[in-house]
Amino acid sequence: MTSSTFLGLGAMGTALATAALDTDNTGVTDGTGGTGVNGGTGNTGRTVTVWNRSAGRAGQLRERGAVVAGSIEEAVAGDGVIVACLLDHRSVHDVLDPVAARLAGRTLVNLTTTTPNQARELATWALAHDIDYLDGAIMAVPAMIGAPGSVILYSGSTTAFDTYRPLLDCWGESSHLGADAGLAALLDLAMLSGMYTMFAGFTHGAAMVGADGVSATEFASRAAPFLAAMTGALADAAAVIDARDYSGEDQQSLEFTQSALDTITQASLDQAVPADVLRPIRDLVRRQIAAGHGKQGADRIFEELRSVR
Ligand code: NDP
Repeated sequence: MTSSTFLGLGAMGTALATAALDTDNTGVTDGTGGTGVNGGTGNTGRTVTVWNRSAGRAGQLRERGAVVAGSIEEAVAGDGVIVACLLDHRSVHDVLDPVAARLAGRTLVNLTTTTPNQARELATWALAHDIDYLDGAIMAVPAMIGAPGSVILYSGSTTAFDTYRPLLDCWGESSHLGADAGLAALLDLAMLSGMYTMFAGFTHGAAMVGADGVSATEFASRAAPFLAAMTGALADAAAVIDARDYSGEDQQSLEFTQSALDTITQASLDQAVPADVLRPIRDLVRRQIAAGHGKQGADRIFEELRSVR
C-alpha cells in the first residue's frame, strides 16, 4: 500500500486507520513484493501516521504499529495521502487551514460527512492550495469497515481515486460517482433521508404497539422482513418518477393513500401516540389532492417536493 496519514481518531477514523494497518500487516494489497509492514515503516518504508486533536485516542493504533503524531504539523510532514475523518465541515477547516501551505502537491481524501456544497467548497479550497481532493461518503458504521457490506462513495479527483484504490478498497466497496466533489455527499445524504424516516416510522410503530404491551423486539421481528420486502417496490416507484407519469392504473392513488394515512393516524391517536411522524407525509399527499391530482399515483408527491425548487 501507500504511506498514509489519518486525521481524526473518533470511532470511524480509528476503524479506517485500523483497516489500513491490518491490510499492510497481511500484505494483501502490498504490490511491491514486501511481506507487509507491521505499521511504522517496516520493510516497505510505508508508514501509517495517525493524529487526533485530543490526546489518548491512539493507544490501540500505536500498538498495531501506527506512528502517532504529536501535532498536526508533524502529522502532515510526510508525503503520503492524507485521510481526514473529522466531525464536520468546520472541523476540517479548523484542522487543515493552519497547515494548508504545506499540503501543496499532496492528496486529501476527506471522509468527513458534509453537505454537497460544503464538499464543493473544500474542493475549491484544495484547488487553491494545489491539493488533489477526493471526497468520500461512508455508507457503513465503524464495525463494518473492511467487512462485507461496507460501501464508500467517492467524487472529485479521479486521479486520486485511481492512485489510492488499494487503500480505499481496504475499507469497503469503492465507487467513484463523478468529478463533481459534491456528488458523493448528495447521494449519501439522500439515502440517509430515507434511512432516518424509516427508523422514525419504525419507532412510531413501536410506540403504537407498545401502548398495548407488545415489545419493540417482537415488533421488529415482524416489521424488519415486511420493510425489507417493501424495498422491492422502490424500483417500480423510481420508474414512475423518472417517467413523471402517475396515471398508471397499477399505482396506488393519492386518494387511497390519504385514506390509509388517515386510518393509521386515527389508530395512532387511539393509542395515545402523537402522529408527528406521519403528519409531513399526509401534508404532501393532501397538497397534491388539493391541486387536483387525487386519482393519480401516490409517487406524485415527488412533484410536490420538486415544485419548490
Ligand atoms: P466521533 O464523534 O467519534 O469523532 C469525531 C472526531 O472529530 C474526533 O476525532 C474529534 O476529535 C474530531 N473533531 C471534532 N471537532 C474537531 C475540531 N474542531 N478540530 C479537530 N478535530 C475535531 O465521530 P466518528 O468518528 O463516528 O465520525 C467521523 C465522521 O465520519 C463524521 O463526519 C461522521 O458523520 C462520519 N461517519 C460516521 C459514521 C459512524 O457510524 N460513526 C458513519 C458514516 C460516516 P476529539 O477526539 O479531539 O474530540
